[in-house]
Amino acid sequence: MNIQHVSVIGAGTMGNGIAHVFAQHGFNVNLIDVSSTQLEKAVQTITKNMDRQITKGSLTEEAKQKALDRLKTYTSISEGVKNADLVVEAATENAALKLQIFKQIDEHAPSGTILASNTSSISITKIASVTKRPNLVIGMHFMNPVPVMKLVEIINGYGTDQQVTETIVTLSKTLGKVPCVVNDYPGFIANKILMPMINEAICSLYEGIAGVESIDTIMKLGMAHPMGPLQLADFIGLDVCLSILNVLYQGFGNPKYAPCPLLVNMVAAGKLGVKSGEGFYTYAAGSKDLVVSDRFK
Ligand code: NAD
Repeated sequence: MNIQHVSVIGAGTMGNGIAHVFAQHGFNVNLIDVSSTQLEKAVQTITKNMDRQITKGSLTEEAKQKALDRLKTYTSISEGVKNADLVVEAATENAALKLQIFKQIDEHAPSGTILASNTSSISITKIASVTKRPNLVIGMHFMNPVPVMKLVEIINGYGTDQQVTETIVTLSKTLGKVPCVVNDYPGFIANKILMPMINEAICSLYEGIAGVESIDTIMKLGMAHPMGPLQLADFIGLDVCLSILNVLYQGFGNPKYAPCPLLVNMVAAGKLGVKSGEGFYTYAAGSKDLVVSDRFK
């Protein structure tokens, strides 16, 4: 399967990064979002991140211009996917929304187009089931920030064709990434292992065993993690963490995945981490200092 035209649906945190790496590696990219403001912001972010690559010497000004020329934006899925060889969906992590988007993509993309989802936890098999081509549906789970992180977790749905998996593995390598293929069960591998660790860190705080800084420092210095689990939860988004834990809890029916009541409360209170300005730490605009939230001092 020859991939040249890639449509990316959702221009948020992940969508702009995914569009960035495809455009940088020579693919024509249609970036699609319901919000034109979000599309403008995404192009600004991509430009800024490419400028940073130029400063570091990993991209030239000419390559940046060519990549930006290959990038087009759309607010309509039907228009944006009609010439796609591959669609990568990176819209909000909501099962009902993704099912509706995949029905729409299936209707408007050519019949041989591979349909991938960047979902962190929603069943690829379930997503595939609303299309007329479940054999061409696959998970392509990039990590945040996409231009920097090497891993792509590739998730085989129950009926994904082996040839589709091979195409996505080869494609991921073309993007300079390291692909790892896994099967479609709740949380796949990355989040089935990561989220219980984050949840355990939040429970340890909730139970008063240690404070925010101690928990994160122990995991950073003791386990050589680049970021403590509470800081990482803020970075991912506490709402995203909660929704993944609920998928694990419901999918396996095992109480070990039950989200910590503190996490549930923080999400209900709108304390979502970096994106809302406060989680376990506070994030003042323009400041890089890590300051523990007053609530946990
Ligand atoms: P985000 O909230 O930053 O962006 C989601 C975007 O989807 C928004 O711009 C929104 O306007 C758009 N959108 C919503 N409905 C749409 C529709 N019908 N059509 C087109 N666009 C629509 O979310 P994100 O963090 O970029 O996450 C996107 C996906 O990537 C989710 O499935 C998430 O689980 C997954 N993911 C996130 C991370 C992370 O660290 N944030 C890491 C890996 C995977």
